Amino acid sequence: MSCSIEIVAERLEAHYGTPRWRRHAPPLDELVMTILSQHTSDGNTAAAFASLRRRFPTWEQVRRAASSDVVAAIRGGGLGNRKGPRIQAVLDAIWHDRGRLDLDDYVDLPQSEVRTRLLALSGVGPKTAACVQLFSLGQPALPVDTHVHRVSRRVGLVPPATSAQAAQPILERLLGADRDRVYAFHLNVIAHGRSICRARSPACGRCPLNDCCDAYLATLQTPPAGEDPHSSRPSDGR
Ligand code: SF4
Repeated sequence: MSCSIEIVAERLEAHYGTPRWRRHAPPLDELVMTILSQHTSDGNTAAAFASLRRRFPTWEQVRRAASSDVVAAIRGGGLGNRKGPRIQAVLDAIWHDRGRLDLDDYVDLPQSEVRTRLLALSGVGPKTAACVQLFSLGQPALPVDTHVHRVSRRVGLVPPATSAQAAQPILERLLGADRDRVYAFHLNVIAHGRSICRARSPACGRCPLNDCCDAYLATLQTPPAGEDPHSSRPSDGR
C-alpha cells in the first residue's frame, strides 16, 4: 500500500502548514541563485549571491568580468571555481541568443517551451530549470532535489529505483497544473526530508505518513530475526 499524492500533500500540510506561493526573484536572478545553491546551504547561497551583486551590480558586468573576479566574489558559497565559469557561460549564451540579459518574458511562454529553452543552456538541468519555473515564473514545475527524490521513493509515489530526473515528470503528472499545490508540496516534502524522513535514521515512529509508507511497512513485514520491527530503519539505498 503506497501513499497517494493526495494523502502525502494533505498530511504534510496538516503537519507543516500550507506555504503560499510568492515570487522569489526575477527569472535570471533565480537562475543564477539556483546555480549558486548547488551543493551548499541556503545561507551560503544567499551570501554568495549578495556578494556577487555587490561586486557586479549588473549581469552584463558579471558576463564581461574576469573569471577570477567572479570566482572571488562567490567563493563564500563553495565550489566557486566551478560555479563562476558556469554562471558566465549561461549569461553569455543568453546574451548571444537574446541580445539582452533578462528572461522576464518567459512568464508568457508555455511551461514546456520555457523548460526546453532553459535546458538548452549548458549546465542547466531539470532541477535548476524547475526552480526558475516554479519560484520565479509561477509555473507548476517540480524541482526534484535530494529530499523530494528520497521521500517520493520511500512512500511509493515513484518506484524505488527511479532516478531524480525520471521522477520529475511522474510527480508533475500526479500533482497536476495547480501551481500553489506544487509549491506547497515541494516545500513541505523538503521540510519532511530535513526533519523526519532524513536520509539516515528517519523518525518513522512520529511520521504522519507511516501507515501508508512502502518503505516503513516493508520493514514491519520482514523484521530481521531477533529485532523489534518498530525499530527498523528504511535505508536510502533500496
Ligand atoms: Fe520516511 Fe519513515 Fe515516514 Fe516513510 S514512515 S515517509 S520512511 S519517515
